[in-house]
Amino acid sequence: MAVYIDCTRCAGDKKLFQFSNVKGGVCFKCKGTGKQRKTKRVRVQDNWFLIENSTLNHSSTKSTLKEATDTAQELDAMLFDGEEKTTITPRSGYHYEHVPV
Ligand SMILES: [Zn+2]
Repeated sequence: MAVYIDCTRCAGDKKLFQFSNVKGGVCFKCKGTGKQRKTKRVRVQDNWFLIENSTLNHSSTKSTLKEATDTAQELDAMLFDGEEKTTITPRSGYHYEHVPV
């Protein structure tokens, strides 16, 4: 549910004195409502899993790919209740990436 607070630009006055020559000085941040939604910036990062070299030999053979797929499924079961959010992305080796739904 959205929470509204007084506009941080005009402090709820709806107009900005210093911009009274622009569109009647209506605050451009809150568009003249005097309110703004209370928001917080958040950052979502990928989860990276380091796999032992002995498990994966960084080649693209079928057995390595199967090994990677099995490990991805194990990680998925451990961390995400088997919702299959972990996928493998082959590049120089294989890394495991948590893909947000
Ligand atoms: Zn404002």
